[in-house]
Parts: sequence; C-alpha cells; structure tokens
Amino acid sequence: MFALVDGNNFYCSAERAMRPSLQGRPLIVLSSNDGCAIARSNEAKDLGIKMGAPWFEIRHLENSAGLVALSANFPLYADISDRMMTLAAGLGPTQELYSIDESFVGLHGVRGDLIRRSRIIRQRILQWTGIPCCVGIGSSKTRAKLANAIAKSAERKPGSYPEELSQVCNLEALPASDQDAIFAATDVTEVWGVGRRIGAQLHDAGVNTVLDLIRLDPAMVKKRWSVVLERTVRELQGVSCIELDDAPGPKQQIAVTRSFGKTVNTVGPLVEAVSEFASRAGEKLRKQGCQTSQMLVFMHTSPFRQGPQLSRSVTVNLRRPTADSRQLADAAAQAVATRVRHQPP
Ligand SMILES: [Mg+2]
Repeated sequence: MFALVDGNNFYCSAERAMRPSLQGRPLIVLSSNDGCAIARSNEAKDLGIKMGAPWFEIRHLENSAGLVALSANFPLYADISDRMMTLAAGLGPTQELYSIDESFVGLHGVRGDLIRRSRIIRQRILQWTGIPCCVGIGSSKTRAKLANAIAKSAERKPGSYPEELSQVCNLEALPASDQDAIFAATDVTEVWGVGRRIGAQLHDAGVNTVLDLIRLDPAMVKKRWSVVLERTVRELQGVSCIELDDAPGPKQQIAVTRSFGKTVNTVGPLVEAVSEFASRAGEKLRKQGCQTSQMLVFMHTSPFRQGPQLSRSVTVNLRRPTADSRQLADAAAQAVATRVRHQPP
C-alpha cells in the first residue's frame, strides 16, 4: 500500500502560512521574472485564471477582483517543503520525495486505521507548517495518485465525489461497486502518466473514464499503445509495478532554518544563528560530496506577531564553489551584518 501526500496549491499556501491576511483572497504566485502564474489559490482558480496564464493578460484582475500576485520565493518554499516532508514521513516506514510538495509513503507493515492515521498527519502538517494537503491511499502508486486527485476534487468541488472522500481518500477501503462509480465519474486524463496526447487517443478509441481504462486488457494496451500505458493499466488494476524510489539524488538546494523562541532585537544573535546554520549547511554539503557557489540568507519576523512585519534576504555569490563551513559561515555572517545595518526598515 502507498500513500501520496500532496500540498494544495503549494506555493500559494506557503505564502499564506507566512501572511495569514492572504487567506480567502484570490492569490497567484508568478514565475521568477513575473512572467506568468505558476500557482493559484482556489479563489484565483474560480476567477478562471489558468495555470501558466501570462501576467499581462490577468493583471486587470488586481483592481476588478482584488487579485494578489506575488513573486515566487523559492527558498521559502524549499524550507516549508522540508518540514512538510518530515511530518509526512510519519505516515509509514519508507518515503519517496516526488516533487517539492508531493511525497509517496510506503505503508507496508503499518497497522491500524490508515484513514484515521492520515487525517492525524494531515492535521499535524496543517498545524505545524500552515500547508493544507490531501492524502490518497492505494495499492499501487498510480492508485494512490488517483486517490489523491479524488480527495482534492471532493474537497474543492462539493458534489463531484462523496463528501467523506474529501482530504483523505483510501481507494482500498471502498467496496468494489463504490470504486466503479468513482472511476466512472473520473476522466481518463486524471490518471498519472496519461498526458494530453494519450488522453486524446484514448478518447478517440472510446476510452473516456478511468473505469473504461481499468477494464482494458493490458496485453492489448501494450500492443495498441505502449508498455508504459500497459504498466499504468496494471497499476490501476491493483498490481504494483512502480516501486518506491526512496534514494533521492543529491539535492539541488539545502535549507537550514529555525524560528527563535522570542523576538530578536539585536544583530548579534542573528549573526550567530546564521553562521551556525551556514556551517551546518556546509556539513550537509560535504556529506553529499557537493559544493555550492551561491547561498541565500533570509530572515523575517514571526507571521503570527502583532505589528509591522520585517523581512530581509540577501543572495551571496561565493568566489569559488565550496563546502567549507568556515567560509560559508563567514560569508553568511557578513551578509547579515551589512544587510541589517545598512538597510533600515
Ligand atoms: Mg500540490
């Protein structure tokens, strides 16, 4: 059995975790050069904003609909992702980090009520990171992925699926007749690995719903389409063919962050903390046999405190790639000292 834990509208949710005043407002996050929308809150989706919509085409919604558009803050997302994944790992013994906001968890040997367990983990992630997520459970990764999509739709579009499948959906806990009803109500393009092109081909062949697809003979699918689609059909039929990849490659980013217990009013403790983190990041780099040529140092006031919010970030370009903790700590400390002293709020 597998679970897929997936953050809802992840970048938008991460921004909201830092700025609760954004709750309930239509919100989008823009790509690095503010070119197009790469994440949309449900309210923004309801305005008809499509994924990848160019900013200049939707900009008028700022005034007419109260749309808020933010530039992407990837270091923040990476940090929140780290915490979210750590909590998601509590669901079972193995984990595959699939994307910044999605991880598969292997559930072998996990006893007890999987739905209840998933709801607890989901609640913990929401409470501790501010990210709402959905959990899909199935006997293969493809079924877990599908269950996740169902959990999301059931939550976002009431009436699309039975209400009790909202947020957490365990396909294997449903009687066969209920599964069939759900599969018959789900378009084949919702299936993991069925892209737009294959989806169109399937539609042409009269295979419109997941139920249609699941009833195909895998051998025929292999002959008429591909081994890849054959594997997808087998996975949908409950035969697990895609294993959990729990040995991720070296990370492109390493994040070390912490919240202070009380408000920090002087530069000293900040410099201290930041150099400590930089040296820990160096440790992680050396463990992976990697080096870095760039470091981003950021700090912000607690999003939960009253009064004005302050945030600062600075990108440090290192003269040559390094994993030396002393060099990293020095550069980070220097960045904080100059940035905080010379940039009044
Ligand atoms: Mg997501």
